[in-house]
Amino acid sequence: MSATPSPARSAVRREPLLFAEAPRARALPFLPLLEGPTPAGPLPDGVLRGGLFHKRDDKASSLYGGNKVRRYEWVLADALDRGARTIVTAGGYASTQVTATIIHGRAAGLDVEAVLFEQPMTRFGREALAVGAREGGVLEHGGGYLRTAVRAALRLRRAERAYLLVPGASMPLPNLGYVDAMLELALQVERGEIPRPDRILVPAGSGGTAVGIALGVALLDWPTTVTAIRIAEPLVTNGLTLRALLVATARRLETLGLQGARRLRRARIEVDGRFLGDGYGEPTPAALAGMKLVPRLLGVPGEVTYSGKGMAALAAWATARPTENILYWHTLSSTGRDDPAADGPSPGELPPGLRRVFSSELVA
Ligand SMILES: *Cc1c(COP(=O)(O)O)cnc(C)c1O
Repeated sequence: MSATPSPARSAVRREPLLFAEAPRARALPFLPLLEGPTPAGPLPDGVLRGGLFHKRDDKASSLYGGNKVRRYEWVLADALDRGARTIVTAGGYASTQVTATIIHGRAAGLDVEAVLFEQPMTRFGREALAVGAREGGVLEHGGGYLRTAVRAALRLRRAERAYLLVPGASMPLPNLGYVDAMLELALQVERGEIPRPDRILVPAGSGGTAVGIALGVALLDWPTTVTAIRIAEPLVTNGLTLRALLVATARRLETLGLQGARRLRRARIEVDGRFLGDGYGEPTPAALAGMKLVPRLLGVPGEVTYSGKGMAALAAWATARPTENILYWHTLSSTGRDDPAADGPSPGELPPGLRRVFSSELVA
């Protein structure tokens, strides 16, 4: 795929569907970013099987898409509302959350500083570093998780009017972005674009996406099973952490005067941990095979951490449940900004620690 320039930005929708269901949400700071609704439709049936569907949140924004966009409508609005000037965040070398923060944060007029922890170096990660630096992010080599946390804390103290964005940004308020996404999907089902899915598969790290989807399913009273495909360490992504986030997000919704909030108590998430392998970003044979399914099923590039493991799970579920309608929620941006095959990335303005990482050997 060549480095085509980003298309002109399509119109950003003014407000989420959720505002009609939870009237008090209108009073909260909100920054429209989504160029939605994102497409929903069938996956080509000659690759795995028929009865498989997609929801394309890679197309959430032509600036930078993916599943952080719906969250950042709340997060960046909150940062601006508090008078922040600098967002301090952390993530792995290939973190899409860091890329999304830099691109959408800078577009909103904020400075972005990111401390990066170690993960296996891939072509995708190399491109993410180059994009982060090129788009004006201040990047720092963090090392392991603990040193990264310490360095981020130091930056938070030093930066002027700093706003902390925790890795993953799965807080109750921004998680509403995916409750809203389910209302959007329900309209697409109503219009006959896809059937109501029996199962929704979504890659899960910090869990905000899966939590929002599960709450949306409960709110709609659908019999759909939400399966979170674990892509981060079991300590981060497990039944208990997801449950805690789900309960906190449901409470937040209740405070906003949501109609039918009692239905949220029925929300459930099933965690599928079979595809993680040795950890976040670690390649497995199934993930490498899954990565190759992404262009065949969606026509966009894949990578190991998110879509490779996600597609590995889709292939397994499609076989194990041959009669289910399964929806795969694609969470990875496809703007071409971090297309690993795009113009050779250059290390640009990276600090020495990261320049070394940039030039290290690739695992995938
Ligand atoms: C952040 C991210 C995830 C994980 O989403 P959570 O809501 O943190 O669980 C999955 N896929 C992609 C492409 C992401 O960028």
